[in-house]
Amino acid sequence: MKNKRFAIVLDTRRCIDCKACTVACKAENDVPLGSENYRNWVGEEKLRGQYPNLGQSFTPCQCQHCGNPPCAHVCPTKATEVNQDGIVHVVADKCIGCKYCMTACPYNARYYNEEIEAVDKCTFCTHRVYAGREPACVETCPTKVRVFGDLNDPSSEVSKLLTKYPSRVLKESQGTKPYLIYII
Ligand code: SF4
Ligand code: SF4
Ligand code: SF4
Repeated sequence: MKNKRFAIVLDTRRCIDCKACTVACKAENDVPLGSENYRNWVGEEKLRGQYPNLGQSFTPCQCQHCGNPPCAHVCPTKATEVNQDGIVHVVADKCIGCKYCMTACPYNARYYNEEIEAVDKCTFCTHRVYAGREPACVETCPTKVRVFGDLNDPSSEVSKLLTKYPSRVLKESQGTKPYLIYII
């Protein structure tokens, strides 16, 4: 079977900062309570427009599942792996907790999980995706900010969105080749 190139396309204009994605991710993935433990977050609040026609925009974020992931390059035990479909994940048993990867990640997408004694981060909800379901954050968002899919399939919704709208990635100059792609 042909490999996929999984990605999430986000339309930040839809985000209302309800943080349902953050709650859903924590519940789905047993992320410990506390703001220092997270697989996703909502950041970068910006004001749009001019008074009196002002609006706010938010930037939901998580691991970018980089095509050139510095977190994987620096790990001394090769605990970060990239699967056949581009999903970057941590093999907890191989993690020795040195946190080099946390320092190397330009997106601050990793945290140290004291409960499993390993670094943790977004997995694109691998367990759900390979069971034919959407990631929890995608399914839960009431305004459908995130769309998950396969960029190798031109008929997928993510491919169509990127054909239809201009887009950007975060910190492009870092050369990490992110696969969280934001509609401008
Ligand atoms: Fe924004 Fe959707 Fe997350 Fe709510 S659930 S904060 S609308 S991305
Ligand atoms: Fe690694 Fe950070 Fe890129 Fe995720 S966003 S693949 S943790 S460098
Ligand atoms: Fe969390 Fe899954 Fe969304 Fe990643 S894809 S942020 S693990 S809910």
